[in-house]
Amino acid sequence: MPSKFVDRRVLVTGGAGFIGSHLCERLLEQGAEVLCLDNLFTGRKANIAHLLGNPAFEFLRHDVTIPINAEVDEVFNLACPASPVHYQFDPVQTTKTSVMGAINVLGLAKRLRIPVLQASTSEVYGDPQVHPQTEAYWGNVNPIGPRSCYDEGKRCAETLFFDYHRQHSLAIKVVRIFNTYGPRMHPNDGRVVSNFVVQALRNQPITIFGDGSQTRSFCYVDDLVEGLLGMMRTPAEITGPINLGNPSEFTVAQLANLVIEITNSKSTIDFRPLPQDDPRQRKPDISLAKHHLGWGPTINLRQGLKRTVSYFERLLSLGRSENGIAERDIPAKYPARLVS
Ligand code: NAD
Ligand code: UDP
Repeated sequence: MPSKFVDRRVLVTGGAGFIGSHLCERLLEQGAEVLCLDNLFTGRKANIAHLLGNPAFEFLRHDVTIPINAEVDEVFNLACPASPVHYQFDPVQTTKTSVMGAINVLGLAKRLRIPVLQASTSEVYGDPQVHPQTEAYWGNVNPIGPRSCYDEGKRCAETLFFDYHRQHSLAIKVVRIFNTYGPRMHPNDGRVVSNFVVQALRNQPITIFGDGSQTRSFCYVDDLVEGLLGMMRTPAEITGPINLGNPSEFTVAQLANLVIEITNSKSTIDFRPLPQDDPRQRKPDISLAKHHLGWGPTINLRQGLKRTVSYFERLLSLGRSENGIAERDIPAKYPARLVS
């Protein structure tokens, strides 16, 4: 059966990032032409270096806060730093990226009358008082805290998507992504999985923020990408929001112990202060994704971590990424929070 993306020209904003690069790869495998737009704020050319020789793939260095002019059949809007360290580095730019980026991709989609998917986030639920989180829950978000630039930016982007849908009958798809991990996370990304794996492989102390009892639900990137593709292919009346994530919930301490076990590491645990507004618990209810997309995760945390560990082992031991680009060549644009 021909793939549903054959001969489609697809714009992926944030396509040189962690999730975006995997999405570009899968779209190409499915027969799409891909226009990858990225300003390389947190993304890397190394993530897409293996795609650059493919005639069906184009890279455009561009900032989503500036209007976009392109001829495409559909849009996945992923442009936005996702790690707390990165989105708090320049919080004003983070809000601009979410809000003006949404306006610009929605404007493009309106002109072309094409569907547009928004990569929203479990952060719209903030520090949730409903557990697990269903899409009907409106969340518990601090509007003025250090995470607000990301949380409120993403919430405003959702508002814009639904207003364009109601006001202009635009075909929208909104997915709320829960913690996703896997190969091509930046070693200095600052998020918990990459931090723990890199620390464990270097036998450095594993930095647990707080007492490690806070929970997250970790989704392997390949599963997530299947969910994104599935959502884009749902009938027009399915707008979302729809949660995409792995409902298996772990404490941060459990994650640390699993990483130490898999890597056979000598790392000790180093407890650090819990950052402000750090959500206490997070677990998606994925009934809607199961019902509308027939989607659910297939890779458990142990399996996904083994693949992620292999990636970082290669990266760190060779000092090179899988694309032959040396780790030391990656500009350290951000103060590395933990990984030296
Ligand atoms: P990432 O930081 O690796 O990727 C984001 C990409 O967007 C990068 O390539 C970056 O350079 C690009 N970008 C940032 N600002 C831009 C701008 N103004 N113009 C153009 N490009 C810009 O993060 P990721 O984990 O791949 O996340 C991708 C998307 O998924 C983000 O929108 C994020 O909010 C969302 N998301 C991710 C997770 C997760 O756990 N990974 C969870 C929830 C939501
Ligand atoms: N965390 C941690 N050590 C680290 C990085 C993160 O204990 O080195 C914790 C963080 O405080 C949070 C959880 O791990 O409770 C997930 O953090 P991450 O930055 O990956 O994403 P979040 O879900 O908070 O956006």
